Amino acid sequence: MLNFKKGYIVVFTISVLGLAFIQYQYLKIGLNLAKVQFNSKVGQAVQTIKQDLETNNELTFLVAQAITKNDAYFKLSVDSIQDASRYFLNDFLVDRLLQNGIKSDFSYRLYTNDSLLYLTSPNYIASQEEQLNFPIVLSGYLPKELNKRLILELQFEDLNKYFFSQLNGLTIPSLIFIIAIILVVFWVLRSFYWQRNVITTTNQFINNLTHELKTPVFSIGLATKLLEEKSDDSLKPFVSIIREQNDKLKVQIEKVLDLAGLEHGKSVIKFQLINFKSNLLALAQSFLKLSELEGVKFDFNFSDEDYFILCEPNHLENAVSNLLENAKKYSKNSPEILLNTFISHNFLHIEVKDNGVGIPEKELKNVFKKFHRVGSGDLHTVKGYGLGLSYVKEIVRLHNGKISLESKMNEGTTVTIKLPIKLKGYE
Ligand code: ATP
Ligand code: MG
Repeated sequence: MLNFKKGYIVVFTISVLGLAFIQYQYLKIGLNLAKVQFNSKVGQAVQTIKQDLETNNELTFLVAQAITKNDAYFKLSVDSIQDASRYFLNDFLVDRLLQNGIKSDFSYRLYTNDSLLYLTSPNYIASQEEQLNFPIVLSGYLPKELNKRLILELQFEDLNKYFFSQLNGLTIPSLIFIIAIILVVFWVLRSFYWQRNVITTTNQFINNLTHELKTPVFSIGLATKLLEEKSDDSLKPFVSIIREQNDKLKVQIEKVLDLAGLEHGKSVIKFQLINFKSNLLALAQSFLKLSELEGVKFDFNFSDEDYFILCEPNHLENAVSNLLENAKKYSKNSPEILLNTFISHNFLHIEVKDNGVGIPEKELKNVFKKFHRVGSGDLHTVKGYGLGLSYVKEIVRLHNGKISLESKMNEGTTVTIKLPIKLKGYE
């Protein structure tokens, strides 16, 4: 069981790691795409910027005065003209970049190819690592005024931060979902194992309790035997009631212990190759005798072949008896029970048919569960522990067989056991 638990956790961990890895790959692809998209947007912006700065207009005129340090026209200090053009150029660039869908922070510098710096943006910081530079070689009015090659360079800082901010809408929810899945799966696993622990301890408790009951039942049986021998006739009926009830209790205790033993693989089942037909015949005859006493109509039909199977006769007989008992217990006014056995498709079919109360369709699967009983009205009219069918199922499973159940309410039930046939001398 522990290995199963480990298996689940390993599969789950691998799945989550795989999912995280795929998410990471998606993110990388997304970042690359974002970069490509960004470059193309800047490319478009650069085009318009270049065009707008080609001609002599208010902005280029102001910039021209600033870079040629000409204060004649505006009658202001050169510093003021430079400051003004720095801000105007900045506003112009912000506007053009926005028009092309770029909102990230940037700075710019205007310089000539002899590395003389003419203008910088108000927030300009000397070049840093990890920044993208887009130099625009200006043409037209401005370079002509200066008589030099003039370059306007756009600088975008910390691009990854910008891209992540664009992708955050996807990465954060997917992280949250992965964490939610992890939490839910751990919670489900925890409650699953907790519940299984409870079931195991309950089973252990029931088994221990039944074990403890064995000794007093045995002592009562012994004492009753002695009492039966020594008591006079007037007391005998009462003593025999004690004995009968004690015997019933013994059978039930054995049932619980048998089932527990089978489940834990404690009782070693010794299979033998026998002709099970004789066992079935003996069983049917003793059941017939009892049925006659109780006014139950019982019939059996065995096909002509031999029934060679690999089995543990005691357990298998018990299983068939359980089915016959159920057929009798859950009957109506004039019970009729039929035991059919035959071979078909290399399987021995043992079929127990009754005309009893039947089982509701939604209960058909449940009746094989341990301690499950179909409630009739407000209380169970027939006594039982709900162990019979789960025991039968376990026995059939150990014999590599199959069990099936067909039932119609108020018409009757048919339970069929199928066991693999073995040829004599061939195992
Ligand atoms: P136990 O066999 O341990 O004494 P039980 O007979 O109640 O108790 P099962 O033999 O496991 O337990 O059967 C489970 C339930 O299935 C029964 O309580 C009964 O409601 C239903 N059942 C079983 N066999 C029949 C049948 N032949 N006809 C109608 N109902 C049945
Ligand atoms: Mg039963």
